[in-house]
Amino acid sequence: MIQTPQGLIIIGDPVAHSLSPRMHAAALKKAGLQHLDYTARQVRAEELDSIVAEIRERKLAGNVTIPHKQNMYQLCDSTSELARKVGAINTFWMQGDILCGDNTDVAGFDFAAKRLVGESPKGLKIALIGAGGAASAVAVAIQSWDDCSLTVWNRSEDRLHEFMEEFDYVSGVSLIEEAVKDANLVINATPIGLKDNTHPVGLDLLPSDAAVLDLVYKPDETAWVKDARLSGRKAEDGIHMLIEQGAVAFKRWFGIEPDRGAMWNALKGSAS
Ligand code: NAP
Repeated sequence: MIQTPQGLIIIGDPVAHSLSPRMHAAALKKAGLQHLDYTARQVRAEELDSIVAEIRERKLAGNVTIPHKQNMYQLCDSTSELARKVGAINTFWMQGDILCGDNTDVAGFDFAAKRLVGESPKGLKIALIGAGGAASAVAVAIQSWDDCSLTVWNRSEDRLHEFMEEFDYVSGVSLIEEAVKDANLVINATPIGLKDNTHPVGLDLLPSDAAVLDLVYKPDETAWVKDARLSGRKAEDGIHMLIEQGAVAFKRWFGIEPDRGAMWNALKGSAS
């Protein structure tokens, strides 16, 4: 049985930029749960043990963002199969005295990508830029797709090699051109483009019909997504992933589907 949390929190460092408090406040209000707060708390690595003690004591639920997703996974008493595959959690809740963790980024990515490539992706060549936590969720999702290949490029070669050891179906390349040259779908799983208009990879290197999915989201979309669309490609930023991972997390906490339209409106309202 679901145990209603006493409050909700997102922990990260930094965390002030997170749109999750705004998004979940809208979902809580729509569900008649507006008495529950969803707050952002900046937590340094050395404070993680004490925040986990507080989560247990106060029966909180919530989300984890960079850089704590892997460490929080280690601190949970019980984790989902998906979280174990990714090796990280982004969602937690208490079940009695048990701290439970799940990774809803996998479902969030799956939903966002299928908006671009269709409900049943098959035989696709997929290029992934980045090999961090979000990239791991991407790799777990794509592993369940039918006969799709995944080629990864990452700035640091050491991390790329670790990623390839974790996901043995993935190919790694040292030149980004190699990753994208014949891709049907190109995914950015780095923060490039978050603070400025830099493209994670030049659009001229992509096939003209490649779809583009940027996991980065900004109120007015990223330059890469806007330019990809201008070039005639299908392209979306990370907002649908953000909403879907949040919606699946909400269901873990309360056992009910949140109002995704209210979550969308709350985020798009933040653009103005
Ligand atoms: P992470 O674990 O810290 O990994 C960051 C990745 O980006 C690493 O592969 C890193 O490469 C690479 N990178 C960082 N700066 C770079 C640069 N200047 N040039 C090239 N590569 C660079 O972070 P994460 O959790 O995977 O998140 C990555 C991004 O995904 C975030 O910024 C966020 O915008 C987005 N995200 C979106 C959602 C969503 O719901 N839409 C969910 C999760 C994440 P190195 O190994 O070389 O450092």
